[in-house]
Amino acid sequence: MAYDDSNIFAKILRGEIPCKKVYEDDFALAFHDIRPLAPVHVLVIPKGPYVSLDDMSMQAPPAFVGGFFKAVAETARVLNVVESGYRILANIGTDAHQEVMHFHVHLFAGRSLGGMLKKVD
Ligand code: AMP
Repeated sequence: MAYDDSNIFAKILRGEIPCKKVYEDDFALAFHDIRPLAPVHVLVIPKGPYVSLDDMSMQAPPAFVGGFFKAVAETARVLNVVESGYRILANIGTDAHQEVMHFHVHLFAGRSLGGMLKKVD
């Protein structure tokens, strides 16, 4: 799928719509999810036109991919949730119900997060 820069996270990156910023560096921007599913629910997005992890891993230089994941870890440190623990998750594609077509990692924390997935048939 080709990247479409009219998506909502592209608009946030361009500063066209606001976000509640948590962390930013050359590789990533982290901000609070507008519909939080946990006491801490932050999204970390790469500063590049990537639809998914697959897209980013194919198109971006390895140093960028590494820089992005270092930014995810730094976001958890800024949120002060490393000791208590946190979960990261990325929805990619149709079966995962990805809604926004700009790659993003969800970071959940702030309470016991329960089992990994509900079993569904
Ligand atoms: P996904 O299903 O993984 O694509 O999740 C998209 C996430 O983006 C959802 O958790 C939404 O609540 C979140 N979201 C959508 N629009 C915004 C926005 N303007 N600011 C912050 N989070 C948003």
